[in-house]
Amino acid sequence: MHAPFKNSIAALVPELTEWRRDFHRHPELLYACHRTAKVVAQRLREFGFDEVHEGIGQTGVVGLLHGAKGAAMNAAGRVLLRADMDALPIVEATGTEHGSQTPGLMHACGHDGHTTLLLGAAKHLAQARDFDGTLVFCFQPAEEGGAGAQAMIEDGLFERFPVKGVYGLHNWPGLPVGQFAVARGPAMASADRLEIVVKGKGGHGAMPHLARDPIVAAAEIVLSLQTIVSRVIDPLEPAVLSITAIHAGDAFNVIPETVEMRGTFRTLSDATAELIKTEVRRICEGVAAAHGVKVEVKPSPTKPYPTTVNHPRETDIAVAAMRTVVGAENVHDGIKPVMGAEDFAFMLNRVPGAYIFLGNGDSAPVHHPAYDFNDEALPYGVAYWSELARRALEAP
Ligand SMILES: [Zn+2]
Ligand SMILES: [Zn+2]
Repeated sequence: MHAPFKNSIAALVPELTEWRRDFHRHPELLYACHRTAKVVAQRLREFGFDEVHEGIGQTGVVGLLHGAKGAAMNAAGRVLLRADMDALPIVEATGTEHGSQTPGLMHACGHDGHTTLLLGAAKHLAQARDFDGTLVFCFQPAEEGGAGAQAMIEDGLFERFPVKGVYGLHNWPGLPVGQFAVARGPAMASADRLEIVVKGKGGHGAMPHLARDPIVAAAEIVLSLQTIVSRVIDPLEPAVLSITAIHAGDAFNVIPETVEMRGTFRTLSDATAELIKTEVRRICEGVAAAHGVKVEVKPSPTKPYPTTVNHPRETDIAVAAMRTVVGAENVHDGIKPVMGAEDFAFMLNRVPGAYIFLGNGDSAPVHHPAYDFNDEALPYGVAYWSELARRALEAP
């Protein structure tokens, strides 16, 4: 396939590939993106950015780039483009020469690529300055379960940098390089954890009448929880609830004191997630009361991610940008939502926007030890960001 990019973007590719591989060699976990954030801030200054702010939401970086006619003073003339910077606690098995230099950590989700793409667009747009308004470049830490986007929001992201639209992207293994995809409406699921502790009274396995068996109660809870999706949730609303761990007892003749269970539930609407939470509590308390045991439904130790919902107008803008870059035949408009979860949901809950997928070719899936971001996708991503930035600013 012939690369449909401007020469100025094609010329950036060797440099972008170097940056991407450098980030890949130096993965950082959650909020500890110190080196990555430093490199990002330094590059934005080198490109001549008008403002660079560090330490937002611990290690987040925000860079402002004004168009040729100068700064936009309010949200109507500003748009935010977001990349994530963090890696995963996975032992790398790519076998590449740019493999992780930190044992046990790797960029297995391609956030090294995402950071590079947004830096590439930053460099290209800083040279061109062929747009009206102000672009807010946002590099966030802790996408992988740490709610880094929410941390930046709580640190005043949208008060300090008001914008009319927010945009994000993720590379997508299995989608050919040079193609894009986007879901209309819900794009990714909400995700929350379950932790349930059933407390009974231990005793001899031969004398259950002197004990209160938490195992029988727990077994009933597991089965009853499955009726939430099948009997309570609207059959046309996607939802999944799985109990994924049960720990109790040790001996063949002892009734244990407690049973600990873990699980997860995912939905495509925040209202459905709330309903599941209420029902889990009701079922656990009801079954526990029936069995004369106690139950504790623990609050999630991490911030649950809301559903990632694309807004219609901003999705149209994103689709127009993708079509300009690769042609309508290479844009999958209106794909099914994905049941994984995404931290960008917090931003989309505050400001309208769109989250799209960029083809990563036939690489291993994300979060796999053999996964690697596909450097051939770099110019497509930079071309998309650059085209999108202009269109999103122009849109009323
Ligand atoms: Zn990930
Ligand atoms: Zn990711």
